[in-house]
Amino acid sequence: MATIINGKELAKKIRLELKNEVDELKAKGIEPKLSVIMVGNDKASEVYVRNKSKACNEIGIAFEEFLIPEETTKEELLGLIEKLNQRKDIHGILLQSPIPKHLDIREAFNSIDYRKDVDGFHPINVGKLAIGEESFVSCTPAGVMEMLKEYDIDVQGKRAVVIGRSNIVGKPLSQLLLNANATVTICHSKTQNIAEITKEADILVAALGKPKFVTANMVKKAAVVIDVGINRNDEGKLVGDVDFENVEKIASYITPVPGGVGPMTVAMLMKNVVKAAKNTIN
Ligand code: NAP
Repeated sequence: MATIINGKELAKKIRLELKNEVDELKAKGIEPKLSVIMVGNDKASEVYVRNKSKACNEIGIAFEEFLIPEETTKEELLGLIEKLNQRKDIHGILLQSPIPKHLDIREAFNSIDYRKDVDGFHPINVGKLAIGEESFVSCTPAGVMEMLKEYDIDVQGKRAVVIGRSNIVGKPLSQLLLNANATVTICHSKTQNIAEITKEADILVAALGKPKFVTANMVKKAAVVIDVGINRNDEGKLVGDVDFENVEKIASYITPVPGGVGPMTVAMLMKNVVKAAKNTIN
């Protein structure tokens, strides 16, 4: 039976460490602050923003929310981002996705000052990650790497397979694994004979958003299986992309859903805000 990687516990530990760092920063006169922009009222986004606000509160990070209407124009959104870019008291700017279709999310992400880009979506941060320079890294992939580190899972020289190539999860995670000297294969919706590839993975990451996609016959014995997926099954229950019950019997380590990668994402966001605040010291 696999060891369960407890993301909830690890996230709690990280939040506690961050609280101490925030206290130290405050003693130096710096109060880390995150600003979140939400355009329109997407129900799921409201829950995500609430969770981020709660985490900030717990750690002592100031939080400012900008809830702007659905019909906001491009100029208004970019104007607000520019205002937040200029504000010295704000260290992190996060634009909650999705945003209404008439707005271009890429253009909006690109207009956030990369030094305040705590989501790690700005092309400068993405580029820095690609060339192995210090940068803000997308929170979910950063959280996965933190989990591997916490459980002393050696990445170097290992065969890693990532299913999913999105800009927020699959690609940055593949890059992080590569930077950590894994041999990385990325699978996507056009990949053929996917099970043959996944069966070679020492570290298998599922980040595609399809419930129970990864079944036991796709997993090598003693593989480390990381489930990034968040899906609702027919009964409305949260499930990942991995058939946990059966894969657990084969894997050496596995992340559950919920309580795995999910809580790590918010913890890594908090870490990025603290980092952005610290960066202002120099
Ligand atoms: P996304 O943007 O929809 O990307 C999904 C990726 O999976 C795409 O690259 C797609 O390939 C690939 N894919 C889809 N169907 C596939 C199939 N049958 N076989 C192989 N690859 C397939 O999703 P995302 O934003 O990366 O999120 C992925 C999952 O992670 C979702 O369940 C999401 O809710 C979850 N998530 C969790 C967290 C967290 O904090 N735990 C954070 C972010 C996302 P193509 O590129 O060819 O279309």
